[in-house]
Amino acid sequence: MTTNPKTIIDRLRELTALECKAEALSEHGVDVSKSLAAEIEAARALIPTAILGHHDRMRARGRKSLAPVRNGVCGACHLRLPISHAISLNPNQDIEVCDNCGAFLYVEVATEPVSPLASTPAKRTATKRTTKAKKATVQSSMSEHLSISPE
Ligand SMILES: [Zn+2]
Repeated sequence: MTTNPKTIIDRLRELTALECKAEALSEHGVDVSKSLAAEIEAARALIPTAILGHHDRMRARGRKSLAPVRNGVCGACHLRLPISHAISLNPNQDIEVCDNCGAFLYVEVATEPVSPLASTPAKRTATKRTTKAKKATVQSSMSEHLSISPE
C-alpha cells in the first residue's frame, strides 16, 4: 500500500464525497444502494486506520475532516495557519492537521502557478494601517477644534 500523503488526501476527498452522497440519500429516506456502500467500503479500505479514525471523529461531530488551504488560511475554520504549517504543506510530506479545528489540510492544486503565501496578507495589513492612520489624523484635528471651541 502506498503511503504517499497526496494519495491519502485524494482518498479522503473521495470518501467524503461518497459519504456525503450516502448521507443525502438517507436524509431523503432513500436506501443507500449496495454499489454506493461498496464504494465507501472500498475507499475506506485504502485509508490508514489512524487517519480514518480521525476522519470518523470529525464526521461524527458534523465537521469536515478535510480543509483546503488558501492564502495560508484553513478552509474549514478560516483561521490563519502558523507559517510553519503553510511552508511544510507539500504533497511529499506528512499530512498536516489544523491546530484549531483538527481538519486535515491540503493545498488545492492550482491550474496556473500562483504564490498563495506571498503578497496578499502583507497588502491587507498595509491597507489597514493606512486607514487607521487617516482616522487618527481626523480625530486629533477634531479634538483640537473641540478644545478650542468651548472658550
Ligand atoms: Zn482549521
